[in-house]
Amino acid sequence: MQCSPDGAIAWHAPDQATLALGVWQGRWRYASVVSDVPDQPDWRSVRRCATQWSPAEADLAGMAMALAHFAHSHRFCPRCGSALQALPGGRQRNCPEGHQFFPRLDPAVIMAVYDDHGRLLLGRQSTWPEGMMSVLAGFVDAGETPEDAVRREVMEEVGIDVDTPHYIGAQPWPFPQSLMLGYAVRARNTVLTIDHAEIEHADWFDRETLQRAASAQDCALHLSNPASISRRLIDYWRYHPEAFPCPSA
Ligand SMILES: [Zn+2]
Repeated sequence: MQCSPDGAIAWHAPDQATLALGVWQGRWRYASVVSDVPDQPDWRSVRRCATQWSPAEADLAGMAMALAHFAHSHRFCPRCGSALQALPGGRQRNCPEGHQFFPRLDPAVIMAVYDDHGRLLLGRQSTWPEGMMSVLAGFVDAGETPEDAVRREVMEEVGIDVDTPHYIGAQPWPFPQSLMLGYAVRARNTVLTIDHAEIEHADWFDRETLQRAASAQDCALHLSNPASISRRLIDYWRYHPEAFPCPSA
């Protein structure tokens, strides 16, 4: 990496398969794309390691995964079919005809739906580990705002009408290229009509029940990884009731 006097940065990396991630603790960090993962015990999944890393380390790993997915999924130009060449650093890929491509993101919404009785809505998909429950989520569709997507997804999945969603925070989710936008939203009704094509089960949970689950006292209920935005939304609801107003309560 070189810096010019006006602060512009020129990336350089050893080869096209190397991804430049940025400076952390005074040193440049890179990631390499490999075609096969060696069967060695020191190779572990990012999902499993994320809870043991600092936020900065998890961010670097997430960036590496996003850039690796970009390299893997953008090998040929979708406009002219030519092979794409990566620019040093891995954040741009060009074809000989001058078409340029950059890492893209799929926006998704994830929402803490709460009611006027001190309860949070959690659901689960059939493919999840037994007992795992989490807040609802879904992709933003073409032509939608994130708030539209919150209202549509909650209605589609559990038949609940909601108030205006309030933005809480976001998290890049490089599995493979999502940006999760977190919302809190109050339910206007509480009778669930579950679309079993979308989710296996959903129910309302009070703070006491989720406290037991968070402290691993309730073996029947498991919450998501503490590093995930889904768990952060659940914990935010548990500890900050003032951020989830109930006008009629
Ligand atoms: Zn092209």
